[in-house]
Amino acid sequence: MSADPKFFFDTGSLALALVDTVGARGRSGAALRSAGSGQPGGVPRQSIEHLSSPRALAAWARQAGLGTGPRPSPIELRQVQAFREAVHRLLRAALEKNPPQPRDLARLNRALAQGEARAGVVWHRGAFAPLPPRPARLADLVRSRVAADARALLLDPSALRACADPECGWLFLDRSQARRRRWCSMAECGNRAKARRFRASVRK
Ligand SMILES: [Zn+2]
Repeated sequence: MSADPKFFFDTGSLALALVDTVGARGRSGAALRSAGSGQPGGVPRQSIEHLSSPRALAAWARQAGLGTGPRPSPIELRQVQAFREAVHRLLRAALEKNPPQPRDLARLNRALAQGEARAGVVWHRGAFAPLPPRPARLADLVRSRVAADARALLLDPSALRACADPECGWLFLDRSQARRRRWCSMAECGNRAKARRFRASVRK
């Protein structure tokens, strides 16, 4: 059995970490394909689905600090993927100042309402205490936590950026002092761009 995938959390946000479980979104004209199913050694021609199995979703949730629960079902995986795509479209709408699709907004608001229902308070041994969480399905937990984070980003998208690599398409938060961060990751897209510039300068 292969090891669990290692996910990217260097975006500054749980919602963006989920959105960025799709790679090469800039090529998203084509259908999603699963990680590892591309032409060997070649550059993928389509977006890459890193959340490609219930096991990968469980690994993502664990790495996100959302705990370890029972392995999610294939239906839960599809629900999280669909929710993730709605959040992605909403964040792009915020970034591009375009009106969102009402269905996406309704989906986010449902997840927010679901999350709030759990954030209750009880009187316990002479003090207020948070209501112990109901044993939640992993998909519900992911959705409610990501929805809360996405809500904050939609209300203040000032630090929201899309990677300058047109094929990457990852979103991240620019917390740099100069607010000039251009790449999701200097190690990945930043260095690829540098290498491209270098090759272009050598060709001249
Ligand atoms: Zn990038």
